[in-house]
Amino acid sequence: MESKEELLATLEVKGVNRRDFIKYATLVTSVLGLAPSMIPRVAQAMTAKQRPTVIWLHFAECTGCSEALLRTTYPWIDDVVLDILNVAYHETIMAPAGHAAEKSLHDAMEQYKGNYICVIEGGIPTANDGVWGKVGGKTFLEIGKEVTKGALATVCIGNCASFGGVQAASPNPTQAKGASEALGIKTVNVAGCPPNVVNFMATVVHFLLLGKLPALDDNGRPLFAYGKTIHEQCPRRAHYENQEFVKKFGDEGAKKGWCLYEMGCKGPDTYNNCPIILFNDGTSWPVGAGHPCIGCSEPQFWDNKSPFYESM
Ligand code: SF4
Repeated sequence: MESKEELLATLEVKGVNRRDFIKYATLVTSVLGLAPSMIPRVAQAMTAKQRPTVIWLHFAECTGCSEALLRTTYPWIDDVVLDILNVAYHETIMAPAGHAAEKSLHDAMEQYKGNYICVIEGGIPTANDGVWGKVGGKTFLEIGKEVTKGALATVCIGNCASFGGVQAASPNPTQAKGASEALGIKTVNVAGCPPNVVNFMATVVHFLLLGKLPALDDNGRPLFAYGKTIHEQCPRRAHYENQEFVKKFGDEGAKKGWCLYEMGCKGPDTYNNCPIILFNDGTSWPVGAGHPCIGCSEPQFWDNKSPFYESM
């Protein structure tokens, strides 16, 4: 097992220098709402000798959440994830396939029994005993029950794992559900389509630092990230108050950065911290780029928040 210095050195070799790493630790600290004095402790938790083991399951989804996690360039999250977390099983990035992959899963469950975090990406079809989603002859329902039983905690990444996602949209022929509902377990729902990976890392760090899951809202989402609406934190809010609305994409109001409420923005009814931590390496976010919020971190948003381009 690497020491803190060794791990920092390993990250450095991969192009993540200490300054950048501390910058990332600072971001995670602020997302968690902790005082700046906690930055060294957060950095320490992220380089702890006992790195948390993760078994990552893919169910009914598009792999967009994994893509969001692995494709960022800042802060080289793929290196951070692969070096800071001990990812024992992840179908998208692991080398084994077929029977060897099945063996990897069972070996990981056995070796880290009671000590791993189960991350679920994707919804779980429940109609007809779950036959609409299978891997290696087992239904997602069976796999989910088996793997979460031995887990220390279960974290759902994305709207599909949290609430069922697009496959749960009406008429939902496979009766797809989020993991909590389908498996009857408590989950931490890092919701979004995709979610912000910083919120995922902050959830893991919270667990490492305090040994417990973060406080959750009624939908199982960490309050540190989903405690306020987009609208409450939106930089266009003053235009909303002044009744200055974009009426058409590309109009004068759009050029002036006015409020997108009349273009269908669901920010007033959506809980997330997008306006604060932003996407694409901290460069922008949908409303910042001129697109109305579609409410992707809310349960059943495909049904409840559409039509996306009509005001609420
Ligand atoms: S753009 Fe959306 S979130 Fe921002 S102020 Fe307008 S309605 Fe609220």
